[in-house]
Amino acid sequence: MKTLSSIFILTFIFLLSYNLAFAQNIAITMDNPNSEPTPLLNPEIRDKKILSILEKNHLKIVLFVQGSQVDNPQDRALLARWDHAGQIIGNHTYSHLSINEITEEQYEQDTLRNEKLLQSYPNFKKIFRFPYLKEGDTITKRDGFRKFLHEHGYEMGSVTIDASDWYISERLEKRLAQDPNADITLYKEYYLQHIWNRAQYYDNLAIELLGRSPNHTLLVHHNLLNALFLSDLIQMFKDKGWKVINANEAFQDPIFQITPDTLPAGESLIWALAKQTGRYNDKLRYPGEDEAYEKDAMDKLGL
Ligand SMILES: [Zn+2]
Repeated sequence: MKTLSSIFILTFIFLLSYNLAFAQNIAITMDNPNSEPTPLLNPEIRDKKILSILEKNHLKIVLFVQGSQVDNPQDRALLARWDHAGQIIGNHTYSHLSINEITEEQYEQDTLRNEKLLQSYPNFKKIFRFPYLKEGDTITKRDGFRKFLHEHGYEMGSVTIDASDWYISERLEKRLAQDPNADITLYKEYYLQHIWNRAQYYDNLAIELLGRSPNHTLLVHHNLLNALFLSDLIQMFKDKGWKVINANEAFQDPIFQITPDTLPAGESLIWALAKQTGRYNDKLRYPGEDEAYEKDAMDKLGL
């Protein structure tokens, strides 16, 4: 009996520590708030829906703002809503250019221009996200801009789970423009499956590299798709046993202090860490935020 109960206790401790080591945490981060018109919901309702989903789930995220998309009176109201809701406002540059396409000097000016636009909001925080997740294609530019961020007191708003919600939203909007009665539940299913697939991919890669599951930061966009289905997305992660946490808590994970030594630099932080090992080569799916992986699948489903 004694042996049996100690085996039981040992098993219990093992399972508990296993669960602690591999319990997945995920935070949502959202890029590019905007008031572009879409079918189905007007821009203000769309924005308010996203905010209310976050509020219902008691979640605080980081909204990475591209200044040129919100530099008008109407969108100052949008930013004020996020600010009042206690959501963090982060810097995504003013013009949303790739650092690989302009000089470091221009990129720095564009970052400061955005800071000027956002800094009066009490919940503005010096946290930076690179447009297109591009972080420089030369060592000089990559390290120069990292130094600039550091000197200006910025933390990195890195992404661990990169996906193509923007592309699914684009296709959904196009379909609704042609057929306002289209069945949107099919887009929801596709979206949830897509994000779950990407989340598992990056989480498995992280466990392989780090021996643990880090706090994840998922990149999604401020669009119609998320106004409609962000709530289902959050519920899906909960149903799968993941814990959905606030973004500022997620960014405490030491993984976000790592600056991978890759060129061109950027993409998902986990992807860059994998690339840095040199061990993956062709096995590493290029994560570029393009439509290549989703187009055929969505075509086939008629979405
Ligand atoms: Zn962006």
